[in-house]
Amino acid sequence: MPRPIVAQIHPEAIAHNLAEARRHAPDARLWAVIKANAYGHGIERVWPGLLGADGLALLDLAEAERVRALGWRGPVLLLEGAFEPRDLELCSRLNLWHVVHCDEQIAWLAAHKTHQPHRVFLKMNSGMNRLGFRGPALRSAWARLNALPQVDEISLVTHFSDADATRDGEDGIAYQLRAFVEATQDLPGERSLSNSAAILRHGERLDVRADWVRAGILTYGSAPDFPEHDAAHWRLRPAMTLKSRLIATQDLQTGDSVGYGSAYRAPRPMRIGIVACGYADGYPRHAPGGHDGPGTPVLVDGNRTRTVGRVSMDMLAVDLTPVPAAGIGSEVTLWGRGPHGTPGSLLPIDEVARAAGTIAYELMCALAARVPVQVEATEAVEGTGASGG
Ligand SMILES: *Cc1c(COP(=O)(O)O)cnc(C)c1O
Repeated sequence: MPRPIVAQIHPEAIAHNLAEARRHAPDARLWAVIKANAYGHGIERVWPGLLGADGLALLDLAEAERVRALGWRGPVLLLEGAFEPRDLELCSRLNLWHVVHCDEQIAWLAAHKTHQPHRVFLKMNSGMNRLGFRGPALRSAWARLNALPQVDEISLVTHFSDADATRDGEDGIAYQLRAFVEATQDLPGERSLSNSAAILRHGERLDVRADWVRAGILTYGSAPDFPEHDAAHWRLRPAMTLKSRLIATQDLQTGDSVGYGSAYRAPRPMRIGIVACGYADGYPRHAPGGHDGPGTPVLVDGNRTRTVGRVSMDMLAVDLTPVPAAGIGSEVTLWGRGPHGTPGSLLPIDEVARAAGTIAYELMCALAARVPVQVEATEAVEGTGASGG
Protein backbone atom coordinates (compact mmCIF):
# COMPACT_ATOMS: atom_id res chain seq x y z
CA MET A 1 0.00 0.00 0.00
CA PRO A 2 1.33 3.47 -0.83
CA ARG A 3 1.80 5.99 1.96
CA PRO A 4 -1.65 7.29 2.75
CA ILE A 5 -0.88 10.93 1.99
CA VAL A 6 -2.70 12.50 -0.96
CA ALA A 7 -3.41 15.97 -2.32
CA GLN A 8 -6.81 16.46 -3.88
CA ILE A 9 -7.41 19.19 -6.42
CA HIS A 10 -10.88 20.68 -6.82
CA PRO A 11 -11.21 22.28 -10.28
CA GLU A 12 -14.82 23.28 -9.64
CA ALA A 13 -13.60 25.43 -6.73
CA ILE A 14 -11.37 27.28 -9.22
CA ALA A 15 -14.36 27.94 -11.47
CA HIS A 16 -16.36 29.14 -8.48
CA ASN A 17 -13.58 31.43 -7.22
CA LEU A 18 -13.08 32.98 -10.66
CA ALA A 19 -16.81 33.69 -10.76
CA GLU A 20 -16.47 35.44 -7.40
CA ALA A 21 -13.66 37.57 -8.81
CA ARG A 22 -15.96 38.59 -11.64
CA ARG A 23 -18.64 39.60 -9.18
CA HIS A 24 -16.19 42.05 -7.62
CA ALA A 25 -14.92 43.44 -10.93
CA PRO A 26 -17.91 42.95 -13.23
CA ASP A 27 -16.74 45.24 -16.03
CA ALA A 28 -13.20 43.93 -16.28
CA ARG A 29 -11.81 41.04 -18.20
CA LEU A 30 -10.28 38.43 -15.97
CA TRP A 31 -6.78 37.00 -16.12
CA ALA A 32 -6.45 33.77 -14.15
CA VAL A 33 -2.87 33.92 -12.88
CA ILE A 34 -1.46 30.43 -13.24
CA LYS A 35 2.27 31.00 -12.72
CA ALA A 36 4.25 28.49 -10.66
CA ASN A 37 2.27 25.63 -12.18
CA ALA A 38 -1.03 27.15 -11.05
CA TYR A 39 0.33 27.98 -7.60
CA GLY A 40 1.40 24.36 -7.13
CA HIS A 41 -1.95 22.86 -8.12
CA GLY A 42 -0.86 21.75 -11.59
CA ILE A 43 -2.04 23.59 -14.72
CA GLU A 44 -3.38 20.42 -16.33
CA ARG A 45 -5.13 19.40 -13.13
CA VAL A 46 -7.03 22.64 -12.65
CA TRP A 47 -7.63 23.09 -16.38
CA PRO A 48 -11.41 22.58 -16.47
CA GLY A 49 -11.79 25.21 -13.76
CA LEU A 50 -9.83 27.80 -15.73
CA LEU A 51 -11.96 27.81 -18.84
CA GLY A 52 -14.15 30.65 -17.58
CA ALA A 53 -11.23 33.08 -17.50
CA ASP A 54 -10.70 35.59 -20.32
CA GLY A 55 -6.95 35.11 -20.31
CA LEU A 56 -4.16 33.21 -18.62
CA ALA A 57 -1.26 35.04 -17.02
CA LEU A 58 2.02 33.35 -16.21
CA LEU A 59 5.72 33.96 -16.60
CA ASP A 60 7.43 30.72 -17.54
CA LEU A 61 7.62 30.23 -21.32
CA ALA A 62 7.31 26.48 -20.94
CA GLU A 63 4.03 27.01 -19.13
CA ALA A 64 2.84 29.24 -21.96
CA GLU A 65 3.62 26.42 -24.39
CA ARG A 66 1.68 24.02 -22.20
CA VAL A 67 -1.49 26.11 -22.22
CA ARG A 68 -1.32 26.46 -26.00
CA ALA A 69 -0.80 22.69 -26.24
CA LEU A 70 -3.89 22.24 -24.08
CA GLY A 71 -5.83 24.09 -26.75
CA TRP A 72 -6.11 27.56 -25.17
CA ARG A 73 -6.58 30.05 -28.02
CA GLY A 74 -7.36 33.06 -25.84
CA PRO A 75 -4.95 35.67 -24.49
CA VAL A 76 -1.82 34.54 -22.69
CA LEU A 77 0.22 37.18 -20.86
CA LEU A 78 3.86 36.81 -19.85
CA LEU A 79 3.97 38.78 -16.60
CA GLU A 80 7.73 39.34 -16.71
CA GLY A 81 8.01 39.49 -20.49
CA ALA A 82 11.00 38.15 -22.39
CA PHE A 83 14.08 37.02 -20.47
CA GLU A 84 16.25 37.05 -23.58
CA PRO A 85 15.77 38.16 -27.22
CA ARG A 86 14.88 34.75 -28.62
CA ASP A 87 11.90 34.50 -26.24
CA LEU A 88 10.22 36.94 -28.61
CA GLU A 89 10.22 34.26 -31.30
CA LEU A 90 8.00 32.13 -29.09
CA CYS A 91 5.79 35.15 -28.46
CA SER A 92 5.36 35.58 -32.22
CA ARG A 93 4.81 31.89 -32.85
CA LEU A 94 2.29 31.32 -30.03
CA ASN A 95 0.76 34.80 -30.06
CA LEU A 96 1.76 35.57 -26.47
CA TRP A 97 1.18 39.04 -25.08
CA HIS A 98 4.09 40.19 -22.98
CA VAL A 99 5.02 42.71 -20.37
CA VAL A 100 7.73 45.22 -21.23
CA HIS A 101 9.37 46.46 -18.06
CA CYS A 102 12.88 47.64 -19.04
CA ASP A 103 14.84 49.34 -21.84
CA GLU A 104 16.56 46.09 -22.83
CA GLN A 105 13.21 44.48 -23.65
CA ILE A 106 12.38 47.42 -25.92
CA ALA A 107 15.74 47.04 -27.70
CA TRP A 108 15.12 43.31 -28.18
CA LEU A 109 11.70 44.09 -29.68
CA ALA A 110 13.24 46.68 -32.02
CA ALA A 111 15.61 44.01 -33.33
CA HIS A 112 12.97 41.28 -33.52
CA LYS A 113 11.75 40.04 -36.89
CA THR A 114 8.08 39.23 -36.89
CA HIS A 115 5.20 39.22 -39.37
CA GLN A 116 2.73 39.66 -36.56
CA PRO A 117 3.10 42.80 -34.41
CA HIS A 118 2.98 42.06 -30.70
CA ARG A 119 0.53 43.23 -28.10
CA VAL A 120 2.57 44.48 -25.17
CA PHE A 121 1.78 45.49 -21.60
CA LEU A 122 4.04 48.36 -20.61
CA LYS A 123 4.80 48.06 -16.93
CA MET A 124 4.87 51.02 -14.63
CA ASN A 125 6.89 50.92 -11.42
CA SER A 126 4.37 52.79 -9.30
CA GLY A 127 6.14 52.05 -6.05
CA MET A 128 6.77 48.30 -5.70
CA ASN A 129 10.29 48.81 -7.08
CA ARG A 130 10.71 45.40 -8.64
CA LEU A 131 9.87 45.82 -12.32
CA GLY A 132 8.84 48.66 -14.57
CA PHE A 133 9.43 52.25 -15.54
CA ARG A 134 8.84 55.18 -13.22
CA GLY A 135 6.68 58.10 -14.40
CA PRO A 136 8.85 60.11 -16.85
CA ALA A 137 10.70 57.03 -18.12
CA LEU A 138 7.35 55.36 -18.72
CA ARG A 139 6.29 58.07 -21.14
CA SER A 140 9.51 57.78 -23.10
CA ALA A 141 9.20 53.98 -23.15
CA TRP A 142 5.64 54.32 -24.42
CA ALA A 143 6.75 56.63 -27.24
CA ARG A 144 9.57 54.29 -28.29
CA LEU A 145 7.25 51.27 -28.29
CA ASN A 146 4.64 53.20 -30.21
CA ALA A 147 7.17 53.90 -32.96
CA LEU A 148 8.08 50.23 -33.44
CA PRO A 149 6.54 48.27 -36.32
CA GLN A 150 6.92 45.17 -34.11
CA VAL A 151 4.37 46.57 -31.66
CA ASP A 152 0.64 46.48 -32.18
CA GLU A 153 -1.36 47.58 -29.14
CA ILE A 154 0.21 49.02 -25.98
CA SER A 155 -1.56 48.39 -22.69
CA LEU A 156 -0.51 49.67 -19.28
CA VAL A 157 0.07 47.54 -16.23
CA THR A 158 1.21 48.05 -12.67
CA HIS A 159 1.29 45.91 -9.54
CA PHE A 160 0.27 46.80 -5.97
CA SER A 161 2.55 46.15 -3.02
CA ASP A 162 0.01 46.62 -0.20
CA ALA A 163 -3.41 45.89 -1.63
CA ASP A 164 -4.15 43.56 1.29
CA ALA A 165 -3.68 46.21 3.95
CA THR A 166 -3.10 49.87 4.76
CA ARG A 167 0.09 51.85 4.33
CA ASP A 168 1.03 55.07 6.09
CA GLY A 169 -2.48 55.46 7.41
CA GLU A 170 -4.34 55.15 4.11
CA ASP A 171 -5.51 52.19 2.09
CA GLY A 172 -2.54 50.30 0.72
CA ILE A 173 -3.13 51.03 -2.96
CA ALA A 174 -3.56 54.80 -2.69
CA TYR A 175 0.08 55.80 -3.10
CA GLN A 176 0.52 53.70 -6.23
CA LEU A 177 -2.81 54.70 -7.68
CA ARG A 178 -1.79 58.36 -7.45
CA ALA A 179 1.51 57.67 -9.18
CA PHE A 180 -0.13 55.56 -11.88
CA VAL A 181 -2.88 58.05 -12.68
CA GLU A 182 -0.44 60.94 -12.77
CA ALA A 183 1.94 59.18 -15.13
CA THR A 184 -0.62 57.62 -17.45
CA GLN A 185 -3.73 59.78 -17.53
CA ASP A 186 -3.23 61.03 -21.07
CA LEU A 187 -1.84 57.77 -22.48
CA PRO A 188 -4.24 55.62 -24.46
CA GLY A 189 -4.55 51.86 -24.06
CA GLU A 190 -6.10 49.27 -21.80
CA ARG A 191 -5.15 49.13 -18.13
CA SER A 192 -4.49 46.29 -15.73
CA LEU A 193 -4.00 47.13 -12.06
CA SER A 194 -5.53 44.74 -9.59
CA ASN A 195 -4.25 41.51 -8.04
CA SER A 196 -6.50 39.35 -5.84
CA ALA A 197 -6.42 41.62 -2.82
CA ALA A 198 -7.27 44.70 -4.89
CA ILE A 199 -10.06 42.86 -6.74
CA LEU A 200 -11.72 41.76 -3.53
CA ARG A 201 -11.13 44.87 -1.43
CA HIS A 202 -11.31 47.62 -4.05
CA GLY A 203 -12.82 46.05 -7.18
CA GLU A 204 -15.94 48.17 -7.00
CA ARG A 205 -14.11 51.48 -6.67
CA LEU A 206 -14.39 53.66 -9.76
CA ASP A 207 -10.81 54.90 -9.53
CA VAL A 208 -9.50 51.31 -9.49
CA ARG A 209 -11.65 50.03 -12.32
CA ALA A 210 -9.60 48.83 -15.23
CA ASP A 211 -9.90 46.75 -18.35
CA TRP A 212 -8.20 43.66 -16.96
CA VAL A 213 -7.82 42.28 -13.43
CA ARG A 214 -5.33 39.59 -12.39
CA ALA A 215 -6.73 36.95 -10.06
CA GLY A 216 -3.99 34.84 -8.49
CA ILE A 217 -4.32 33.56 -4.94
CA LEU A 218 -8.08 34.04 -4.79
CA THR A 219 -8.42 31.58 -7.66
CA TYR A 220 -7.05 28.89 -5.39
CA GLY A 221 -9.32 29.72 -2.46
CA SER A 222 -7.06 31.63 -0.09
CA ALA A 223 -8.00 35.04 1.30
CA PRO A 224 -5.28 37.52 0.33
CA ASP A 225 -5.96 39.64 3.40
CA PHE A 226 -6.19 36.88 6.00
CA PRO A 227 -6.64 37.22 8.97
CA GLU A 228 -8.51 40.49 8.49
CA HIS A 229 -10.88 38.51 6.28
CA ASP A 230 -11.01 34.77 5.76
CA ALA A 231 -11.87 32.74 2.67
CA ALA A 232 -15.45 32.24 3.91
CA HIS A 233 -15.88 36.03 4.13
CA TRP A 234 -14.89 36.34 0.46
CA ARG A 235 -16.93 33.21 -0.43
CA LEU A 236 -13.85 31.42 -1.74
CA ARG A 237 -13.53 27.64 -1.80
CA PRO A 238 -10.28 25.73 -1.35
CA ALA A 239 -8.88 24.28 -4.56
CA MET A 240 -6.48 21.96 -2.74
CA THR A 241 -6.90 19.49 0.11
CA LEU A 242 -3.89 17.82 1.69
CA LYS A 243 -4.82 14.78 3.70
CA SER A 244 -3.26 11.71 5.18
CA ARG A 245 -3.93 9.15 7.91
CA LEU A 246 -2.74 8.15 11.35
CA ILE A 247 -0.17 5.38 11.09
CA ALA A 248 0.41 5.00 14.87
CA THR A 249 -0.79 6.25 18.24
CA GLN A 250 1.14 6.72 21.50
CA ASP A 251 -0.06 6.98 25.10
CA LEU A 252 2.11 9.53 26.85
CA GLN A 253 2.71 9.90 30.57
CA THR A 254 3.23 13.30 32.14
CA GLY A 255 6.66 14.59 31.14
CA ASP A 256 7.09 12.29 28.11
CA SER A 257 8.47 14.14 25.10
CA VAL A 258 7.52 13.99 21.43
CA GLY A 259 9.84 13.92 18.44
CA TYR A 260 13.18 15.56 17.67
CA GLY A 261 14.59 17.94 20.21
CA SER A 262 11.94 16.86 22.72
CA ALA A 263 10.24 20.06 21.69
CA TYR A 264 6.94 19.03 23.28
CA ARG A 265 6.49 17.45 26.71
CA ALA A 266 3.17 16.03 27.84
CA PRO A 267 1.74 18.19 30.63
CA ARG A 268 -0.52 15.26 31.65
CA PRO A 269 -1.24 11.76 30.42
CA MET A 270 -2.43 12.10 26.83
CA ARG A 271 -2.85 10.23 23.58
CA ILE A 272 -1.18 11.40 20.40
CA GLY A 273 -1.42 10.25 16.80
CA ILE A 274 1.41 9.98 14.28
CA VAL A 275 0.49 11.29 10.80
CA ALA A 276 2.10 10.21 7.54
CA CYS A 277 3.01 13.75 6.52
CA GLY A 278 6.22 15.68 6.99
CA TYR A 279 8.27 18.46 5.55
CA ALA A 280 9.36 16.28 2.64
CA ASP A 281 5.71 16.38 1.58
CA GLY A 282 5.64 20.17 1.69
CA TYR A 283 4.21 20.58 5.17
CA PRO A 284 5.99 23.54 6.83
CA ARG A 285 8.67 22.41 9.25
CA HIS A 286 8.25 25.61 11.21
CA ALA A 287 4.63 24.82 12.06
CA PRO A 288 4.70 25.16 15.84
CA GLY A 289 3.71 22.19 17.97
CA GLY A 290 4.84 23.81 21.14
CA HIS A 291 3.77 24.41 24.66
CA ASP A 292 3.25 28.08 24.82
CA GLY A 293 1.18 28.59 21.71
CA PRO A 294 -1.87 26.76 20.46
CA GLY A 295 0.14 24.64 17.98
CA THR A 296 -0.87 24.33 14.35
CA PRO A 297 -4.47 23.39 13.54
CA VAL A 298 -5.24 20.01 11.97
CA LEU A 299 -8.40 17.91 11.58
CA VAL A 300 -8.59 14.26 12.68
CA ASP A 301 -11.72 12.54 11.36
CA GLY A 302 -13.05 16.04 10.76
CA ASN A 303 -12.42 17.17 14.36
CA ARG A 304 -10.16 20.08 15.04
CA THR A 305 -7.00 19.49 17.02
CA ARG A 306 -3.35 20.61 16.77
CA THR A 307 0.13 19.41 16.09
CA VAL A 308 2.54 18.61 18.93
CA GLY A 309 6.33 18.56 18.72
CA ARG A 310 8.51 19.23 15.69
CA VAL A 311 7.51 18.29 12.18
CA SER A 312 9.93 15.68 10.85
CA MET A 313 10.67 14.64 7.29
CA ASP A 314 7.95 12.02 6.94
CA MET A 315 5.79 12.35 10.04
CA LEU A 316 4.19 14.76 12.44
CA ALA A 317 2.32 14.24 15.70
CA VAL A 318 -1.16 15.43 16.70
CA ASP A 319 -2.95 15.71 20.03
CA LEU A 320 -5.81 13.18 20.12
CA THR A 321 -7.38 14.55 23.32
CA PRO A 322 -10.36 16.06 21.44
CA VAL A 323 -10.73 12.91 19.29
CA PRO A 324 -10.68 9.90 21.68
CA ALA A 325 -12.14 7.54 19.09
CA ALA A 326 -9.31 8.14 16.60
CA GLY A 327 -6.88 5.33 15.81
CA ILE A 328 -4.69 3.95 13.08
CA GLY A 329 -6.28 4.77 9.74
CA SER A 330 -8.14 7.85 10.97
CA GLU A 331 -8.27 10.52 8.31
CA VAL A 332 -6.16 13.61 8.92
CA THR A 333 -6.78 16.86 7.06
CA LEU A 334 -3.66 19.03 6.91
CA TRP A 335 -5.55 21.71 4.99
CA GLY A 336 -8.61 21.99 2.77
CA ARG A 337 -11.80 19.98 2.90
CA GLY A 338 -12.51 17.63 5.79
CA PRO A 339 -13.74 14.07 5.27
CA HIS A 340 -17.04 13.29 3.58
CA GLY A 341 -19.90 13.03 6.01
CA THR A 342 -18.59 15.86 8.17
CA PRO A 343 -20.36 18.69 6.41
CA GLY A 344 -18.89 22.09 6.99
CA SER A 345 -15.61 20.65 8.16
CA LEU A 346 -12.89 22.67 6.55
CA LEU A 347 -9.40 23.67 7.55
CA PRO A 348 -8.45 26.86 5.72
CA ILE A 349 -4.90 26.72 4.40
CA ASP A 350 -4.61 30.33 5.58
CA GLU A 351 -4.88 29.21 9.21
CA VAL A 352 -2.12 26.65 8.81
CA ALA A 353 0.09 29.15 7.01
CA ARG A 354 -0.48 31.78 9.66
CA ALA A 355 0.40 29.39 12.48
CA ALA A 356 3.59 28.45 10.63
CA GLY A 357 4.58 32.08 10.06
CA THR A 358 4.07 32.01 6.31
CA ILE A 359 1.36 32.57 3.70
CA ALA A 360 -0.86 30.15 1.81
CA TYR A 361 0.95 30.96 -1.45
CA GLU A 362 4.09 29.33 -0.10
CA LEU A 363 2.36 26.21 1.20
CA MET A 364 0.54 25.61 -2.09
CA CYS A 365 3.66 26.09 -4.16
CA ALA A 366 5.68 23.83 -1.87
CA LEU A 367 3.53 20.72 -2.28
CA ALA A 368 6.21 18.09 -2.87
CA ALA A 369 6.51 15.99 -6.00
CA ARG A 370 6.33 12.79 -3.95
CA VAL A 371 2.74 13.50 -2.88
CA PRO A 372 0.26 11.67 -5.14
CA VAL A 373 -2.38 14.03 -6.53
CA GLN A 374 -5.99 13.19 -7.29
CA VAL A 375 -8.23 15.43 -9.33
CA GLU A 376 -11.81 15.55 -8.23
CA ALA A 377 -14.34 14.71 -10.92
CA THR A 378 -15.69 17.90 -12.46
CA GLU A 379 -19.11 17.18 -13.98
CA ALA A 380 -20.25 20.39 -12.33
CA VAL A 381 -17.93 22.53 -14.41
CA GLU A 382 -19.44 23.77 -17.61
CA GLY A 383 -17.98 23.14 -21.02
CA THR A 384 -15.05 20.99 -19.98
CA GLY A 385 -13.40 19.02 -22.68
CA ALA A 386 -10.11 18.59 -20.89
CA SER A 387 -9.58 16.29 -17.96
CA GLY A 388 -7.02 16.54 -15.23
CA GLY A 389 -3.79 14.66 -15.01
C1 LIG B 1 1.50 36.86 -9.09
C2 LIG B 1 1.01 38.10 -9.71
C3 LIG B 1 -0.35 38.43 -9.60
C4 LIG B 1 -1.33 37.66 -8.77
O1 LIG B 1 -1.21 38.06 -7.41
P1 LIG B 1 -2.19 37.47 -6.32
O2 LIG B 1 -1.83 38.18 -5.08
O3 LIG B 1 -1.87 36.01 -6.22
O4 LIG B 1 -3.55 37.71 -6.80
C5 LIG B 1 -0.80 39.56 -10.28
N1 LIG B 1 0.05 40.31 -11.00
C6 LIG B 1 1.37 40.03 -11.11
C7 LIG B 1 2.24 40.91 -11.92
C8 LIG B 1 1.88 38.92 -10.46
O5 LIG B 1 3.19 38.63 -10.57
